[in-house]
Amino acid sequence: MPELLYWLALLIAVLVTLGLLARYNLWRPPRPKAWPRVLMYHSVRPTNASAGIVMDVPRFAWQIDWLARHGARFVTVSQLLAADDPRGMVAITFDDGYADNYWHAWPALRRYAAPATVYLAPEIEGIERLTPAMIHELQADGWEFGAHTVRHCHLPSTAPGAARDEITDSRRAVEAITDRPCRSFSYPFGKYRPEHVEMVRAAGFESAVTTRKAIAPLERVDRLELPRLSMVGQMNRFEFWLTYTRGRYRV
Ligand SMILES: [Zn+2]
Repeated sequence: MPELLYWLALLIAVLVTLGLLARYNLWRPPRPKAWPRVLMYHSVRPTNASAGIVMDVPRFAWQIDWLARHGARFVTVSQLLAADDPRGMVAITFDDGYADNYWHAWPALRRYAAPATVYLAPEIEGIERLTPAMIHELQADGWEFGAHTVRHCHLPSTAPGAARDEITDSRRAVEAITDRPCRSFSYPFGKYRPEHVEMVRAAGFESAVTTRKAIAPLERVDRLELPRLSMVGQMNRFEFWLTYTRGRYRV
């Protein structure tokens, strides 16, 4: 009888391991800690439904604490790209410009004097946007503001002329709010084609972030197609750790 229990326990252990390997990206070796990371967030708010682009406040604060405990050097995207020594640098980014970045993300970041980079779509509809006053306050605390088209435009389904205007005008609109050069861009929905990269370059942006999930040394990435780690609301601590170390948690 004890032998049967032994084999049963072993079988369960094997099944659990196989289940984890099928579900999680454990087989991929961890990326070197020295390679910089660009993390993508959207909305951080008090909620019982942390999922997708909305993350609850305790989860976000735990992630920032974890990064700080593990030696992250928090920087903006432009600071990362200008760094002589980018080892261990982590750039926190927020797309769209939710007002909750001010109310709920800033307190968690401020404890570590950690700046973030926000990609504003100045005329995006359907969200509570950061106000110019909030933007100025965050900017005074070291945050960077990039552009994300004017109306959160799906570039591949937009006529070339209109796409160019969305990209170029968003740079001007962000500069009008911040009164500083707008250097960074984020492709809405992570969707773009090679011609949009050229439009972003022509508009004068120095960098652009995508939704491609990867961790790579800076010399191996195109500055106008920077990969990011997607931080989603339903992520548990194990999935966060997998994403941070491997680039993604799903197989
Ligand atoms: Zn967006």
